[in-house]
Amino acid sequence: MKNKPVTHPETLVAQADHFLDPASGAIVPPLSPSTTYARTDDYQLRGKTSYLRGSGANWEQVEGLMAKLEGGPTAAVFASGMAAGTAAVMALKPGDHLIMHETIYWGFAEWLLDFCPRWGIELTSLDLSLPGALAGAMKPGKTKLVWIETPTNPIWQVLDIAELAQVAHASGARLAVDSTVATPVQTRPLELGADLVMHSATKYLNGHSDVLAGVLVPAREDDFWTKIMANRNQLGASLGTFEAWLLLRGLRTLYVRVERSSRTALFLAEAMAKHKGIERVLYPGLPTHPGHAIAKKQMQGGYGGMLSLLVKGGREEALKMVKAVKVFHRATSLGSVESLIEHRASVEGAVTKAPQNLLRLSIGLEHPDDLLADLEQALV
Ligand SMILES: *Cc1c(COP(=O)(O)O)cnc(C)c1O
Repeated sequence: MKNKPVTHPETLVAQADHFLDPASGAIVPPLSPSTTYARTDDYQLRGKTSYLRGSGANWEQVEGLMAKLEGGPTAAVFASGMAAGTAAVMALKPGDHLIMHETIYWGFAEWLLDFCPRWGIELTSLDLSLPGALAGAMKPGKTKLVWIETPTNPIWQVLDIAELAQVAHASGARLAVDSTVATPVQTRPLELGADLVMHSATKYLNGHSDVLAGVLVPAREDDFWTKIMANRNQLGASLGTFEAWLLLRGLRTLYVRVERSSRTALFLAEAMAKHKGIERVLYPGLPTHPGHAIAKKQMQGGYGGMLSLLVKGGREEALKMVKAVKVFHRATSLGSVESLIEHRASVEGAVTKAPQNLLRLSIGLEHPDDLLADLEQALV
């Protein structure tokens, strides 16, 4: 018999890393809302925490689990996905060069475009799915960070993490991957060579549309990571205790949620691809999708719960469909138990690059037939 009984991440998450409170035997962690921790009479801390902005027991439970799921030496929770991403970029120095894939989470792209020039960071934005694009943009010695997302919102391009990591490393840069959509269930960027993984834990990790949170997992605890940790503390990007507690609770069902929503997403993508009211379905699980070959190599256990429909016609036809749904909620965000639909161009406003006939779907845990029937009745 092997002496390591827990070899599967499903077991780790279901048991919240086999949590057991040594004092009481509780298998659900207690909430520790105290912001300050008393010292002993000889001025020693009893645990790790002295003040809640820098560390807390409810954070550590999530961080320990996320480090194991992503295969990193440590992890850090943040007040939101944006707080995690901005803390990482703010670890760069004026004069550094940052390269971003042109279609990343729009709110983060907007922030980079505003912040980098003011911070003295040179920013290059380009389509890194094109062969040779990253190699051509690298400035050896100056490029410090490459920021990608895969699959990308809202057209679900799939970027080759292993290949981009190799190119970034060849010039001494780090590769950061926003893995919010893939989750550690389907992609583990650190194993593919990435240096930093970011999650909006608001999405699949928590999975219930009731927590705003972010997570970073580094490949190693170096100076860059130390600076990121200082940023979290000094910028006050700290996660609330109750949010951390809820996030751990949500994580327990991560694998079953991601598996189910991916299976239903594939079912809907295949059905919608045959529908006469749909011009095209964008989903990495379809062999016709440009990113399918990389997705097949890079993703495990499915192709995610996100897909987009290009409605036949234009903006008007897309808005007509979104108006007619009865089961899907017309709402932004993704990765939760309830299915959501949105007209991306309306949400992003004037700066949008999303096609006007695109509807983005986040598939939840409802019965697949109810979701299909809803889409079909909305298309007549
Ligand atoms: C939502 C999202 C973010 C931002 O995360 P918040 O938790 O909303 O701050 C970043 N990246 C992706 C891919 C997202 O979907």
